Amino acid sequence: MNRLLTLVVFLGAAGAAQAQFRMPNLDVNRMIDSAKNLGKATREINQEEEIAIGRDLAATLVGAAPLVADPRMQRYVNSVGRWIASQSERPDLPWQFGVLDAPQLNAFAVPGGTIFITRGLLDRMQSEAELAGVLGHEISHVVKKHHLKAIQKGAMTALAGDALSMAVQNKNAAANEKLVSFGKEMYARGLDKGDEFEADRVGVVYAARAGYDPYGLPSVLQTLQAINAQDSAVALMFKTHPAPGDRLDQLSEKMQPTLDAYSSQPNLADRFRAEFKPAK
Ligand SMILES: [Zn+2]
Repeated sequence: MNRLLTLVVFLGAAGAAQAQFRMPNLDVNRMIDSAKNLGKATREINQEEEIAIGRDLAATLVGAAPLVADPRMQRYVNSVGRWIASQSERPDLPWQFGVLDAPQLNAFAVPGGTIFITRGLLDRMQSEAELAGVLGHEISHVVKKHHLKAIQKGAMTALAGDALSMAVQNKNAAANEKLVSFGKEMYARGLDKGDEFEADRVGVVYAARAGYDPYGLPSVLQTLQAINAQDSAVALMFKTHPAPGDRLDQLSEKMQPTLDAYSSQPNLADRFRAEFKPAK
């Protein structure tokens, strides 16, 4: 009797937490199942699950800033992004790109192929090759599953204490809540430096393959380097990424021997200016 009562109280609380977070529980539950299965044997999260996890995270993360209400700008960034993604090892993901109406300088990717860039960062760019470099970096995070792997690792730790309640029922809102807050925390804290350096290296290769001057990303990093690190517009970017100078140092080792040959490829500064009118 006591046990039944406990179960009823527990499920009641779980329902309230679910309503409060308004998360599409189905998808997060799949993620929990995946994490649980990982405890037994290492199972890869499949592509469908990856896309679902990304959709949940995107919904959570985008709440803070709306998309820019400019269909032409959104179309342009999507066409550049999809073209670069088509040069990657995962061309068939449902790639989509969104410009967030935020003055800060930032860009981020969620698993499954959704990528956001802020209007503040676009405002500082001079060419399509720079945009291609930044999108190439974010596309690399998705292709290399950097966030997905961090979520997999973190979910196992975060859910360890819930093993008992997980056994009661798969649809555990408290566990959902932990996963969502873990996801948010991961985006506030950033990935490992090694993942960021890898995304830079792979991103410039994608930009080069897509026909752009691969020096677009280094050019953006130079712009970032010139901004005072105390400036609130770059606070999150600087907190979640290695210092621009370190990224440039790492990249130059890669660029000089292999990518210099592509540096005569166009940067499409004119097209960028024609498509994108900075908000002044
Ligand atoms: Zn990154």
